[in-house]
Amino acid sequence: MTFWDENAETLPRDKLEELQVKRLKDTVARCRKSIFYRNRFKDVDESRFRKPEDVALLPFTTKNDLRMNYDFGLVTVPRDEIVRMHSSSGTTGKATVIFHTRRDIETWSDLVARCIVMTGANKADVFQNIISYGMFTGGLGLHYGAEKVGMLTIPSGVGNTKRQIQLMKDFNTTVFHATPSYILYVSEVMVQEGYDPKEFDLRIGFVGAEPHSEQTRQRIEDIYDIDAFNSYGMSELNGPGVAFECEEKNGMHFWEDQYLLEVVNPQTGEKLAPGEEGELVVTTLGREAMPIIRYRTGDLARIVDDGDKCACGRTHVRISRIKGRCDDMLIVRGVNLYPSQIEDVLMSFPEVATNYQILVEREGALDSLTVKVELYPKMFDGDLRKLKKLESDITKTIQEDIVVRPKVEFHEPGSLPRTEGKAVRVIDTRGEM
Ligand code: AMP
Ligand code: ZN
Repeated sequence: MTFWDENAETLPRDKLEELQVKRLKDTVARCRKSIFYRNRFKDVDESRFRKPEDVALLPFTTKNDLRMNYDFGLVTVPRDEIVRMHSSSGTTGKATVIFHTRRDIETWSDLVARCIVMTGANKADVFQNIISYGMFTGGLGLHYGAEKVGMLTIPSGVGNTKRQIQLMKDFNTTVFHATPSYILYVSEVMVQEGYDPKEFDLRIGFVGAEPHSEQTRQRIEDIYDIDAFNSYGMSELNGPGVAFECEEKNGMHFWEDQYLLEVVNPQTGEKLAPGEEGELVVTTLGREAMPIIRYRTGDLARIVDDGDKCACGRTHVRISRIKGRCDDMLIVRGVNLYPSQIEDVLMSFPEVATNYQILVEREGALDSLTVKVELYPKMFDGDLRKLKKLESDITKTIQEDIVVRPKVEFHEPGSLPRTEGKAVRVIDTRGEM
């Protein structure tokens, strides 16, 4: 078993919590240098904090707080100490911008290096970073971590799929980083181009940046014959390197020496017990340029509460797959559902190809739910009975899971829209009247 930073990754829980309290106090003190927090923390006496849970004495920070304090409102260092700016990929409202000092970039790259090594990847690997570079943090975040590990790093970015395949072949890529939706698309193009996705030298994939189900991970693993590891992060918390799966693939280790995690009820903000699903709320514990306290991530997950220490030896808590964002929840005919539940069902049918779309409309007074699904070409051989049976099986299985009965529509591979960045799975036209 290898570690990037064995001491930090295996710190006994009592030592880890001690460190959290110390860093929390330092972070609150540092926050007072920012315009935004100075006022907020007027009446806070952090010297009285004794345990990590004392963080709950502080108010939440929301995305709206970041927006309202655009541009430098949360910054705690002089302008000339800032070396990097990133932005969140949200498409609505004003952008949120995040700043880093040189030390912040070092700390971040170290966290990413921990994640990489935790999956069994190492400096002998050739790493193709198939994700967008630029203000989005997925590109540069993994890039710096991979170089730190010493991998041959190919910054291929996203898009130009045939060239991606060529690079994989010419340079014997062994590890990639991509969104699950794009890497599944790459496999389809490989097949069209006459390749077998298994014939490449790939052995490990880092997949993240968008919600995806366990079934989708297994698809990626089967198609490419690799191990795929879930990668979680967000620009407000640096980007990738917040939580990542180890070789046990039993939840993502959340790096608690740098991030203090709470899981709260998204409606009331109250703390939930370990194992209960809720919104992740995170405090940065080491960031210099722009510390953030109790950030409402909007992401839904739970702490893996199996009572066991992870077999990999790391002591940091594990979180489940991200179910979606609180605002991804759809209410269809009064039933609450998440797109990831539908994905889970679809990906369990081997006839279903890799792309789908969920359409919610209003028909008269009623909501209607249509699931558009791409099927593999072999399904379009003129055997209508086979298609009818598949349609009824998928409809029934979705209905069993989410109660609402969907209309299921089949499409040829490549016919539904795709994005190169985060996949857009849901079109909801009900508000457009
Ligand atoms: P951005 O700040 O633009 O990188 O977007 C971050 C958001 O992407 C997170 O808040 C999550 O909603 C989503 N995200 C990132 N990684 C994952 C993952 N592994 N699984 C599910 N959602 C993810
Ligand atoms: Zn582990």
